[in-house]
Amino acid sequence: MKQYDVKCPVCGHVNHNLFLEETDGWMECEECSSMTRLNRFGETIRIPIIAVNGHCKPAVLHA
Ligand SMILES: [Zn+2]
Repeated sequence: MKQYDVKCPVCGHVNHNLFLEETDGWMECEECSSMTRLNRFGETIRIPIIAVNGHCKPAVLHA
């Protein structure tokens, strides 16, 4: 499951580690609580999940 960083179009706050595939592109801004739907995930910044592959952080899977 990919995680995304999304900049809120309302207040400009960047919300981190969103599971957009789970919410069908919806995100709720943690700063101003606006609901925003992103048409294409490709327009957001993708974070490679390196930290969960290796060392101290346990991978949490929503299976
Ligand atoms: Zn916002």
